[in-house]
Amino acid sequence: MTQEARLREQICLLAKSMFDRGLTGGSTGNISARTDDGGLLVSPTGTSFGRLDPARLSRFDAKGTLIGGDPPTKEMPLHTAFYDTRSTAGAVVHLHSCHSVAWSMMPEVDADDFLPPLTPYGLMKLGRVKLLPFFLPGDPAMGEAVRGLAGKRSAVMLAHHGPVVAGKDIEAACNAIEELEETARLAMLTLGQSPRMLTPDQISQVVTKFNVEWGA
Ligand code: ZN
Repeated sequence: MTQEARLREQICLLAKSMFDRGLTGGSTGNISARTDDGGLLVSPTGTSFGRLDPARLSRFDAKGTLIGGDPPTKEMPLHTAFYDTRSTAGAVVHLHSCHSVAWSMMPEVDADDFLPPLTPYGLMKLGRVKLLPFFLPGDPAMGEAVRGLAGKRSAVMLAHHGPVVAGKDIEAACNAIEELEETARLAMLTLGQSPRMLTPDQISQVVTKFNVEWGA
């Protein structure tokens, strides 16, 4: 099996796993990954994470021209914004995941640091997550807002919509976005109960020990 054939299988397997666990429903969510030749594989428009077909993924060449498969997701500008601003990005995942969307509506959320410091893994896998405002579906300003961060964040949350996370490869991006949703779930579960957060000292120990990219 070639690298690309393996990557196609892996994208569909990970997407189905997230769909099966209710992390994004219906035909929501989209996913992309870099190929060895500098191109991209992308989930097609209107497809469900539960039923992606490896043979029909949208295939772009290194110049960004669609050279095979079905037409890509309409949220493509979110993906290219990450690849263009973060040279380390090997994959990008976007979900419409319930708890992170709920948390994006809470008045106590800090837009510059979306997730509260509840677990070390949330910090390690995501760094600081930027909350972006509400955009109309399909508004190209979404991609522009990600570009405006100049590659300093690997994860953003679109208010009332869902998270978008870049990782070095497809597995890292999926693990990180799952951690984002889990942390938002913990935040919602403990909302109004004054949970003890990690202390500034504990946070800085995690950041130092695991060389966490903290984002400007
Ligand atoms: Zn979306």
